Amino acid sequence: MFCSAETSNFTTMQSQQNATILPLLKTHFGYDSFRPNQKEIINTVLNGQDALAIMPTGGGKSLCFQLPSLALEGTAIVISPLIALMKDQVDALNANGIAAAYYNSTQEQEVQSVILERLITGQLKLIYVAPESLWLLTNYLSKIQINLIAVDEAHCISSWGHDFRPAYIQLNRLKSEFPGTPIIALTATADRATQDDILEQLGISEAKKFVSSFDRPNIYLDVRPGQNRIKHIYKFLSARGLQSGIIYCLSRKSTENIAAKLKTKGYDAAAYHAGLSAEDRTQIQEDFINDRTPIIVATIAFGMGIDKSNVRWVIHYNMPKNIEGYYQEIGRGGRDGLKAQALMFYSYADVIMLRKFADGTPTQDFQLAKLERMQQFSESLNCRRKALLSYFGENLAEDCGNCDICKNPPKYFDGTVIAQKVCSAVSRMKEQEAIGTIIDVLRGAQNQQVLEKGYQTIKTYGAARDISWKDLQQYIIQLLNQGILQIWFHEKGRLVLTPQAKQILFEGKKIRLANLVQNVTEEQKPKTKNSTRSPKDLFEKLRVLRSSLASNLGVPAYVIFSDASLKAMEDKKPRTVQEFSEISGVGQAKLDKYAAVFLKVILKHLDTGSTKIATHKKTHQLFKDGKTVKEIALKRGITESTVYTHLVKIHDEGTTIDLYQLITSDEIHKVKTAQKELKNPDGLKVYFDHFKEQIPYRIIKLGLYLPEK
Ligand code: ADP
Ligand code: ZN
Repeated sequence: MFCSAETSNFTTMQSQQNATILPLLKTHFGYDSFRPNQKEIINTVLNGQDALAIMPTGGGKSLCFQLPSLALEGTAIVISPLIALMKDQVDALNANGIAAAYYNSTQEQEVQSVILERLITGQLKLIYVAPESLWLLTNYLSKIQINLIAVDEAHCISSWGHDFRPAYIQLNRLKSEFPGTPIIALTATADRATQDDILEQLGISEAKKFVSSFDRPNIYLDVRPGQNRIKHIYKFLSARGLQSGIIYCLSRKSTENIAAKLKTKGYDAAAYHAGLSAEDRTQIQEDFINDRTPIIVATIAFGMGIDKSNVRWVIHYNMPKNIEGYYQEIGRGGRDGLKAQALMFYSYADVIMLRKFADGTPTQDFQLAKLERMQQFSESLNCRRKALLSYFGENLAEDCGNCDICKNPPKYFDGTVIAQKVCSAVSRMKEQEAIGTIIDVLRGAQNQQVLEKGYQTIKTYGAARDISWKDLQQYIIQLLNQGILQIWFHEKGRLVLTPQAKQILFEGKKIRLANLVQNVTEEQKPKTKNSTRSPKDLFEKLRVLRSSLASNLGVPAYVIFSDASLKAMEDKKPRTVQEFSEISGVGQAKLDKYAAVFLKVILKHLDTGSTKIATHKKTHQLFKDGKTVKEIALKRGITESTVYTHLVKIHDEGTTIDLYQLITSDEIHKVKTAQKELKNPDGLKVYFDHFKEQIPYRIIKLGLYLPEK
């Protein structure tokens, strides 16, 4: 057994904690306040206690172990399952001036030796290792002071979890190998069974558990019927073509088709699926992460391990097979906390296809039940976020105001007559027909199928002729959702009546239907001004600067600054280093490295951005604000002489301005006298020489211009 070289005296640390962690947050990460639960988790670890942190993707898990390591002596060991993730986190830490490195089997031996050298000489605050490599480091770890152990993506230890990793099992030795060192396990997996299993497997049953809300309020949730989806997508993208986004599809073929279609429309899109070579996939991922390819059309193989904070939208071309998947995929949007859109298309064809995938698998019933919940969510007439969170056992007190239903609440009407007609038709067709035929019959269609079966003779034939096909389909879906009808997928999707239907038909039960038509066809116009970006936008200019810095350094763009930071720069328009330091995400290291270049772009933008106001008027404005000539010149980056020229021009234009403030009466007198003596010479140089270079040109010019008082 080996222990960390010295078990820190955690209790003495405690009193200092609150005082020290907030400054560390600003200095190292540039943030002013903690996100929910971060402070509590950090304090737990600083107290030497084990912790389990459950936070949604983007919730800010990393900080929960990075910051305590900075507050404590020694090095943190971070166990992370994916090499790509480790690299990104280490890049981000280094960009913040924090000494961190990762160690894994793909590295050259020389690189490994350098890292190990830094490790044992105490130069690293954090070392990231894959679980497979951890025990190779045993000899080194016994020689250093370990301040905490973080197990990232901790659900990988649980066979209940959705991506179990055998090497994680070995982590059950951690607690006995490092008995005095706090372990912090982190995951975004919400379900209880997995959470409990993590604690058991890691042997940290006493760990304090912190479950954050799974709400991601910045993601706009939107679900639409699947008709004309590609057209909807074009429309959606027309305002968002430069933003990063992912379109998820069910099949490889559709990823390629859609990517091709988007390209013909001029969008820079790439298809991604498991059928591509590993090299191609890596390339595509990297191009996406580094903002080179904005749009990825992918199967769900894409996204795992992608730590990109500025994904602005996620589209589901098909309905996902369960809510967990949906939640995880939309969660890749808006990790920086800025607005993001999640748009999902939903159709019966998807449901039928997904049912086929599930049929005959060992977990069929389980999968079908989850699929049904997904379908219910898609068809929900209540706040989407409420429905989503309730699935994860969380209750939202109020409607969210940021989903399609909240933005466009359905209008209800008395749907009893429609329901009666539909139920009657279903009954008269002996519950043998699927939704399409029922609609046809109700609308009095004369197609072969209807006529062959003699449905034109039943009493409800044509009874809903006045309702469009699509509307009627919507109403029937609502009847399904309300439990009035059921769909028997396993029998060609035929509709059958439930006991509720009988109440409607025979007992006069009333029902309400939502008039959804306007909701589903109305394009949700992006309202924020950052949804349409033109190269003239400051944000866009900052983004270009960020990209070029990132590519020079070979790091993802967000490692330089997150979109949230760029947005803050755009909003606050810092002009000085001090103002720049107040931007969220600007810590000391980034202030030193980037303030100058970013400020340059901002100042230039402010100057050209206001060229509509003539330059001499801007000078005048500052003059009116009481600035001295010197101050104006400094602020505007022009010479004092130009300031004079500008102000004279203002005077010429007839604006009242007291130019006598700029010159003494003695100076005017001298200039006027010289004018007489020199017999009104051409040019100012003669005066300048006459005064032996003691009176500046601007004063000479003004002295000539102004009459003596
Ligand atoms: P997770 O690992 O939970 O998915 P991250 O640790 O990657 O999330 O954090 C997501 C984003 O939020 C990152 O850009 C991170 O820098 C940012 N972030 C974390 N904590 C804060 C905070 N207290 N204030 C502002 N931004 C934060
Ligand atoms: Zn809502």
